[in-house]
Amino acid sequence: MLSKAYTLEKNKAGNISIEDAIKRIDIVKEISSYIELKRSGSNYLGKCPFHDDSTPSLSVSEQKQIWKCFGCGKGGDVVKFVSLYENITYMEALSKLAIKYNLPINIKNEEKNNKIYEVMSLVSDFYHEELTKSPKAMQYLQKREINPKTVEAYGIGYSPNHYKVVEFLQNTSEYYLELYKSTQNLHQSSKSIRDIFEGRLVIPIRNTSSNVVGFGGRILYEDKSAIKYLNSPDSSIFKKSQLLFGIDIALPYIKEKEEVILVEGYFDVIRLYQIGVRNVVAPLGTAFTQEHAKILSKYAKTSYIMFDNDNAGKNASLRAAKHLIAKGIKVFYVEIKDAKDPDEFGMKFGKDGVLELLKVSKNIIDLNIESKNIDIALELASYLKEPEDIFQYTQKLLGIGLPKHVIDQYVGKKSFVENKDQTDSSCEKIPMKDRILLKALKECNIDINPLDIEWLDKNSIIIAEKIKYQQELSDEELKLLESVNLPKDALEKYLSKTIKEQSVVTKDELMNIKNTLSRKSYVKKYHFSHGKI
Ligand SMILES: [Zn+2]
Repeated sequence: MLSKAYTLEKNKAGNISIEDAIKRIDIVKEISSYIELKRSGSNYLGKCPFHDDSTPSLSVSEQKQIWKCFGCGKGGDVVKFVSLYENITYMEALSKLAIKYNLPINIKNEEKNNKIYEVMSLVSDFYHEELTKSPKAMQYLQKREINPKTVEAYGIGYSPNHYKVVEFLQNTSEYYLELYKSTQNLHQSSKSIRDIFEGRLVIPIRNTSSNVVGFGGRILYEDKSAIKYLNSPDSSIFKKSQLLFGIDIALPYIKEKEEVILVEGYFDVIRLYQIGVRNVVAPLGTAFTQEHAKILSKYAKTSYIMFDNDNAGKNASLRAAKHLIAKGIKVFYVEIKDAKDPDEFGMKFGKDGVLELLKVSKNIIDLNIESKNIDIALELASYLKEPEDIFQYTQKLLGIGLPKHVIDQYVGKKSFVENKDQTDSSCEKIPMKDRILLKALKECNIDINPLDIEWLDKNSIIIAEKIKYQQELSDEELKLLESVNLPKDALEKYLSKTIKEQSVVTKDELMNIKNTLSRKSYVKKYHFSHGKI
């Protein structure tokens, strides 16, 4: 793996790879231009500029091209030294050194993106190797009856703790660590860098070109206060609204029959693959979007929606169906019986069971016409595109006695699905004390584990974790934060009291804060919300 990362690469302009360029810099000479170095055995020693160093504790290895301080623990390659000393970013330090040493490198976005894919692939391999070292992760997969061949096919992995992937990248190349940071898969605070997937099973997510672009992490133990699935945050290479899990493996099978099966979760895709049904994809824990439908419309004419056997699954099916119909894809609704989701169904009834279920599934518009859900049937039919489909469904609706002028008003009349606000009623129930804390977490950027605050309710914890891991908040959640109208210092006070005493600021105390602030003439700019404290 390492040899692959360090092979000399020349691009079209005759430039060399960034790792090779860094190796061309004389680390001893460069660091000597900042601090005095003295030879000591095969290494060089100097006083560390990053902590109050009385004895020389910073060691530079000419052979390994790295430095390390045994006093404060800082270390890395030559670029890292310059970036720390000059207090500039790694990329800025690299540009500076490239000019100084006339290095033939070109930090273009395209090359950077290709490099990011390389780093993602290395990290994915790293997690995959860690999996077999973890008995509890292996046990988890055995319990779910996922066999080793399937694990290999998807490259499923495991993150043992918060630092191992950071160490792995650091030991490979400081530049790689820097690139990986830009994918937001590490949580950075002033004190530490943490792997956001620590302790989770890690499932690589690939794009249609089979590049790993992100990960989905699942907790190994059922824990109601933890987020069951955590996805990579959106970044330049990872856009949830445009990615479908399993597409890399499913694509040839989708193309073959121009048919796709849509499921809700990672393990639905994985289970169906394992039992031999392979044209299966899933959106990434988010709603199925117009962009998803657009991608599928390139390869499939027919879709089978096989979502979970519950109300949420049924509602999500309708929404996905609208997007698919609007892109000219026929939609069949697959009703799962005697199982809660495709994963369980596949495990119980195997490939034949699934194929039989697909065979008896009905076109979602027909299904709603037959069960006299006329509103829904008309709504779905309003997205039809093809003239023959419009004609066919006009006839069908006439057949059940609907007046022609009503049918003409709807069928085929809409071209895209409007983005209605998805109202999440769970947000409304969140009490004001939690809202203030959530707002404080968002505004004050203090490293605190939401799980440490015992009184937070479950819905608040989910939002707090999202804030902690810098994940996208829904419109509803943002609105909830807006319901708190307090200046930053009031929030900071509230937060520090909460952390120190694990208690809630009383109404009187909050009034005190308010009075203090109003003396500072904040009162004109801010008003206090009238929620219950
Ligand atoms: Zn030091």
